[in-house]
Amino acid sequence: MPGFEWLGKEETKAVNEVMQRGVLFRYEFADQRQGVYMVRRFEEEFAAYTGASHALAVTSGSAALKVALAAMGVGYGDEVITQGFTFVATWEAILDCGAKPVFCEVDESLCLDPEDLKKKITDKTRCIVPVHMMGAQARINEIMDIAKQAGIPVLEDTAQAAGCTLKGKHVGTFGAMGTFSFDSVKTLTCGEGGMVISNDPELYQNASEYHDHGHDHKPVGRGNEGRRFMGMNFRMMELQGALGVTQLAKLDKMVATQRANKAALKEALARVPGVSFRYLPDEAGDSATFLAWFHETPEAATRFAGLLAEEGVPAIPWGKNTWHAYPHWEHLHAGASLAKSGWPFDRPEGRAEYDADALPQTDAILSRCLSWQIMLGWDEARLKHMTEVINRVAAAM
Ligand SMILES: *Cc1c(COP(=O)(O)O)cnc(C)c1O
Repeated sequence: MPGFEWLGKEETKAVNEVMQRGVLFRYEFADQRQGVYMVRRFEEEFAAYTGASHALAVTSGSAALKVALAAMGVGYGDEVITQGFTFVATWEAILDCGAKPVFCEVDESLCLDPEDLKKKITDKTRCIVPVHMMGAQARINEIMDIAKQAGIPVLEDTAQAAGCTLKGKHVGTFGAMGTFSFDSVKTLTCGEGGMVISNDPELYQNASEYHDHGHDHKPVGRGNEGRRFMGMNFRMMELQGALGVTQLAKLDKMVATQRANKAALKEALARVPGVSFRYLPDEAGDSATFLAWFHETPEAATRFAGLLAEEGVPAIPWGKNTWHAYPHWEHLHAGASLAKSGWPFDRPEGRAEYDADALPQTDAILSRCLSWQIMLGWDEARLKHMTEVINRVAAAM
């Protein structure tokens, strides 16, 4: 997923132009900016790219989640359902809004399991947040059907899946809102940054005003009228906007490169006995940032990982990952926060408890799963070497 590999002259030029104009702020400075609004342009181009009618740039993918949840009216007393395999930011944002995260199992799509979702909906569920993990689609159509039937809006955490589509429709545009991250390891990077997209003008308006202290953004400019509600500051700056515009122009080529590199390795891995692949709802639309596969047992996965590491091409064992896997979020299980009151874990109605063993299916699936991040810079020689390693390791299994 690494856009950082393709930071080049274009980005330098775009950033220098912002510095020469001397306008770092996305709003105001009309006299100095000569009609140039880089953050606004990034929003317009990102909306056009994804097919959403509205896009709001923010400071990070975490901020995007926070802003989107706030725009949807999520707060204390609500439950928000998400999955036990995601980056910690997903549930941090939910807790930060005052709501309580409820975790679902993932299935072999490595994303939210629709069957478990059905079991976890209660009369307190205010929002469902599936995460399109590792560049590919969640079972979003099934999830949307369940959500619609229950009358609950969906927010898609699309932080890892810029450039990914399902039957030609960009992920992040299926639910009421979608969020993206442009941090240092994401496909499209601004160093730090995020985006909220929606087809709902009211949710967009809420998000836009919330991310700018609640300042009225209608009918003209900002802060000219009153405020409808309190907000915060999650504004993106012009330097990030310039980086975003430049990187977005490269996104299709990044995705095409990832797909070609991934296909070469997948073909080789398919010949390894006992290997099966992550379920992809639409392989043609996969942004191909990762190649994820399963072994028949955790022991086989560990053995295969050991052999790959000896050959100098280590794979990621998700079952042991402390950033993305529910069983290893010790601070969540401990309910640890800096607040002296114990908030957001200690609540008037009792403590929110998270048992490390609560998601056995997720744990079992991740412990059989290995993956490689697909790099843009791999050339033919590197791919050939990796293919040879796969063949050698397969023979030793
Ligand atoms: C990266 C990521 C985020 C958070 O994005 P930041 O820009 O780092 O704040 C949220 N959700 C997922 C699934 C991510 O991978």
